[in-house]
Amino acid sequence: VNSNATTIILFGATGDLARRKLYPALYSLYKKKNNFAVIGVARRDYDHEVFRQNVYESLKNHSNPENDAEDFIKRFYYYPLDVKDTKAYDGLKELADQLNDQFDLQGNRMFYLSLAPEFFAPVTLNLKQAGLTTNTGWKRLVIEKPFGRDLESAAELNNSIHEVFEESEIYRIDHYLGKEMVQNIQVIRFANPIFEGIWNNRYISNIQITSSETLGVGERASYYDHTGALMDMIQNHMLQMVALTAMEPPSRFVTEDIRDEKVKVLRSIRPLTDSTVANSVVRGQYTRGTMPNGDVVKGYREEENIKEQSMTDTFVAAKLHIDNFRWAGVPFYIRTGKRMTAKSTEIVVQFKDAPKRPYFNNFNDLQPNLLVIHVQPDEGLSLKLNAKKFSTGGGSIPITMNFSNSNNDDGSSAYERLIQDCIHGDSTNFTRWDEVALSWQFVDYIAEAWKERNIPLDRYEAGTMGPASAHELLAKDGHHWWPLT
Ligand code: NAP
Repeated sequence: VNSNATTIILFGATGDLARRKLYPALYSLYKKKNNFAVIGVARRDYDHEVFRQNVYESLKNHSNPENDAEDFIKRFYYYPLDVKDTKAYDGLKELADQLNDQFDLQGNRMFYLSLAPEFFAPVTLNLKQAGLTTNTGWKRLVIEKPFGRDLESAAELNNSIHEVFEESEIYRIDHYLGKEMVQNIQVIRFANPIFEGIWNNRYISNIQITSSETLGVGERASYYDHTGALMDMIQNHMLQMVALTAMEPPSRFVTEDIRDEKVKVLRSIRPLTDSTVANSVVRGQYTRGTMPNGDVVKGYREEENIKEQSMTDTFVAAKLHIDNFRWAGVPFYIRTGKRMTAKSTEIVVQFKDAPKRPYFNNFNDLQPNLLVIHVQPDEGLSLKLNAKKFSTGGGSIPITMNFSNSNNDDGSSAYERLIQDCIHGDSTNFTRWDEVALSWQFVDYIAEAWKERNIPLDRYEAGTMGPASAHELLAKDGHHWWPLT
C-alpha cells in the first residue's frame, strides 16, 4: 500500500500563500517520493497549462526547479470555480475521481483551504453536498488561519466543519508548529536531563518570548486593520510557544498525549481581570520612524487602507502567570509586533542568579544564565554562562555557547513538514479544538477589555522595540527584555 498517495484539492491555488509557500513545499515532497496530484481551485479563468506555468514560476522564484520539475507540474490540474457556486462542485468531483485512477492515489483526499476564512465553513459543507467527502480512502481537511475571530465564531466554524470531518481529520494549521526550532523545543527539554531537571520555578527566573517583524502592514492592510497583533499572533503562534515551553513531559510521546499537556498549560494560565489587562497587557501601534537600515517609514495610521483613527494593535506585550506547581511565581513575558528593530522569533529562558555573596562580591559582570532558542530567521540554540576573565586577577566574563543551523529557508519547509505530517496522518503539530478554544477565551477577554474599558493604545516609533510601557512591564518586576541576539 502506498500510504503517501493522495489527491490534494487546493482551494486558493492562485493566491499568495500557494505561490510563495505551498508549491515549493509540494515540490520538496514530490522529490521525497510522495505520490500526489493537485487540483488547483480558484475563480480565475486558467486552464491546466497556464496553471502549471504559474506553479513553475513559483518554483523559479521560491525554490530551485531541476529537470524533474517538468514531471512535477504535470501533476497539477486546474478547476475554475467560485466557491459559492454549489453546482460547480460536481465537476470537481469528476476530475478528482479521474485523477485518483490515473495516478493510483488510493482513494485518499486532502482538502487544503488556503482561502479567506469566511469561506472555510461553506466550502466544507459544499464538499459534502457534492459527495467529494465520501471517497474510498482517508479524507483530511487542512485549514489555514485564522480559525474564527473570537471564541463564538470559532465554535460556530468548528460545528460546521464537524458536520463533515471528524476532529482527527481536521488539520488546523499554525505554521509556527512546523518550524524546526519550535518542534525542537520538546527535544531540547525532554532529551536533555540537564535542562529538564531545572525547568521549573526553583531555577528559572522568567521566560521571554518575542516574535518581532520589521515589516509594516503592507498589502494586508485592510485585513490587518480588522485583526491586529492580538488576534493575528498572540491567539495562535505566541500561546502555542508558551504551551510548548511550559508543558509537562507527556506520558507517551504520541499526538493526543502531547496535545493534552499543551491544553493543561493553556488551562493553567491565570485568568485576567480588568485590572490585570490594564497592568500586564500592553497594546501598541507604530508611528512614523526610522528603521535600522535608515529608511524612514510611515506610521500605521498613515498607511494606505488604514482608518485615520484606527485603534488596531500592531504590537502586544503581556505578562502571563501559569498557575501550577512547576511555574508558580515565574512570569512569562510575551511580545510581538510590526515595524520593530529586527525580524526575530526567540525564546529566552532566564535562570535565577547565583548567590553573589560571599563568593562573587567583586564580580561586576556576573550575568544570569540564559538559554535562548532561536526560532527565526536563524535557527539555533545558545547558552550564556559566566567564566573567569582570562589572565587577569579576578572577575568574570560572560561566554556564549552557540549552535546555529544556518539555512536560507524562506518558510516553505515549515509547510513541507506540516503537509507531510498530514499525508502521514500525524496531527501532532496542528492545533486541536480545545487548544483553539482556550486561546480564544484568553484573547477575547483582552479584546473585550480594550474595547470597553478605555485602555490606552501606546504609540511606538517604527524601528524600536515597542512602546515604553512594554519595557516598564518588566521593569516593575526588576527584569528587562534581553536584547535580541
Ligand atoms: P490571497 O492571496 O488573497 O488568495 C486567495 C485565494 O482565494 C486566491 O487564489 C483567490 O483566487 C481565491 N478566491 C477568492 N475568492 C474566491 C471564490 N469566491 N471562489 C474561489 N476562490 C476564491 O490569500 P493568501 O494570502 O494566499 O491566504 C490564503 C489563506 O492563508 C488565508 O486564510 C490566510 O489567512 C492564510 N495565510 C496566508 C499567509 C500568507 O503568507 N499569505 C500566511 C498565513 C496564513 P481567485 O481570485 O482567482 O478566485
